[in-house]
Amino acid sequence: MNESTLPDRLAHSLQDRRRVLVVGGVAGGASCAARLRRLDESLDIVVFDRGPFVSFANCGLPYYVGDVIEDERALLMASPDLFRERFNIGVFTDTEVTRIDCDARTITVRGTKGGGERVEHYDALVLSPGAAPIRPRLPGVDRAGVFAVRSIPDSRAIRTWISDREARTAVVVGGGFIGLEMAENLVRRGLAVTVVEKLRQVMPPLDPEMAAPIQTHLAKERVTLHLGDGLVEIDGHPGGGLIVVTESGARLPADLVILAIGVRPEIELAREAGLSIGARSGIVVDDQMRTSDPHIWAVGDAVEVPDVVTGQETVLPLAGPANRQGRVAAESIAGRATRFRGVQATAVVGVLGLTVAATGASEKGLRRAGVANFQTVYLHPGHHAGYYPGARPIHFKLLFSTPDGRILGAQAVGQEGVEKRIDVVATAIQFGGTVHDLAEAELCYAPQFGAAKDPVNLAGMLAQNVLNGDMPVAEWNAVGRTDALLLDVREPSEYAAGHIPGAVNIPLSQLRRRCGELPEHRDIWICCGVGQRAYYATRFLTQRGYRAWNLPGGYATYVAMRDAGLVPGRVA
Ligand code: FAD
Repeated sequence: MNESTLPDRLAHSLQDRRRVLVVGGVAGGASCAARLRRLDESLDIVVFDRGPFVSFANCGLPYYVGDVIEDERALLMASPDLFRERFNIGVFTDTEVTRIDCDARTITVRGTKGGGERVEHYDALVLSPGAAPIRPRLPGVDRAGVFAVRSIPDSRAIRTWISDREARTAVVVGGGFIGLEMAENLVRRGLAVTVVEKLRQVMPPLDPEMAAPIQTHLAKERVTLHLGDGLVEIDGHPGGGLIVVTESGARLPADLVILAIGVRPEIELAREAGLSIGARSGIVVDDQMRTSDPHIWAVGDAVEVPDVVTGQETVLPLAGPANRQGRVAAESIAGRATRFRGVQATAVVGVLGLTVAATGASEKGLRRAGVANFQTVYLHPGHHAGYYPGARPIHFKLLFSTPDGRILGAQAVGQEGVEKRIDVVATAIQFGGTVHDLAEAELCYAPQFGAAKDPVNLAGMLAQNVLNGDMPVAEWNAVGRTDALLLDVREPSEYAAGHIPGAVNIPLSQLRRRCGELPEHRDIWICCGVGQRAYYATRFLTQRGYRAWNLPGGYATYVAMRDAGLVPGRVA
């Protein structure tokens, strides 16, 4: 049935329908279109995507390369037919939007497989064009065998390359989330993998000492790391294959190269239309995702949004925010007053059996943002009660502001239960929570799942101890230059297996008896395995009038700090 055969009243109302066009039909665009339909049956909603698919799982792409997801169709969460039939949403794939005319309220679209251009009118326009992988302008980056990972065809091409060429070696340039996920999946495919990263650490959103255990783990899993070494050129190998040349002069042979050095918001369309672009090169939007043009909304990787912790504008290419923003834009178009709260960079990644998660600000992020009044605690609790078999340590760092105790961020690395703890902290941050809220949080406990004092509670309690002066903490980065006496309160066997250079050993169990050996007028910095015994020692000594300080997180944190180059020294 076309509109001319409909009863007059219905045909008329269809002609008068408000028209919402959506550019980009994946995370932000698809969720916006679907939400809009649920809110308003009367709208004419049309989605354009220049790729062959809409609503596909970008986040699953590395696992398709790694054969964890074997069937490409599993990546497709909704087809154009489903959009049409279930939601009455028009979908045009292989159709690029090339121009926006804000005055006329039209867009120009062009079929990527031919078919010429046409102009479409809108009442409301939603931009969700995402972010494109950065391809540095360096010699050789366009050679065959050099890939970025953004779409299903990209991952398909990588899979085909690996099997057709029987690839055995790969270089991944970039040690962030996508780089490490690709490294993991290439290892899974049996390739020998080298990661080249310009920074001196993997996982740039984390602080370096929290990235150190990931680096140790990668080395254990035989992933070769070139840290602090940038890509210079990709050369051809005389015998076939590629050679990745780095700033240090290393020449790394590879059957394929993955470029994963970050993404750049796709803002050309918006910029050419005269929409405001912010300092972080994202489209400027208000808290209802409306751009500088009142008829245009923008969401997802392409927009700038406030960071709820630092208050500064940021671009954050993550699927959760893109989906939520799509929903907010839909509500705004439908006339509701829903607002986007901002982002806090909650993220998780799996790295060959290790889970790495973070939320909120990192220490370096806070320093960059000019925040000075904060403190950190480190802890390394088991992911569940130690008496129940199989407890695995979680390396945990909590950042909080002083003196109010507001939670600013957390990072955690471990094998089990990592993302659960970060999710709890993330929720607390959403609610403006403090370390006192973490200490008080009532969380699940049975021995195989947690502990009566969950790692989240412990983090809150430690932070409380710092805030109320029960546990003065020393700064790790001052360990190499302090005049303080370094006191190690672990057992002699633990001390013998490795200790901070220059530390003297008095086990906690002997401290009451031997405290007379300690100087009364000198600072004493106390270290143990993970910080707990040092805390007991600090409490005892401060009550006896000594100037005692805890080195937070103990020797486990020292090793991470040392490996990250943040404290001098070797294991004595
Ligand atoms: P996209 O989902 O990228 O969609 C943009 C779409 O717009 C694209 O299909 C593009 O073709 C289309 N488009 C662009 N310009 C035009 C135009 N002019 N005309 C027509 N169409 C256009 N996030 C997480 O939170 N967790 C993860 O584990 C995770 N893993 C990831 C793994 C990979 C390999 C990748 C690439 C991303 C991953 N992300 C992850 C990020 C997440 O996928 C993005 O943040 C999210 O998809 C952004 O949604 P978006 O709608 O802004 O853009």
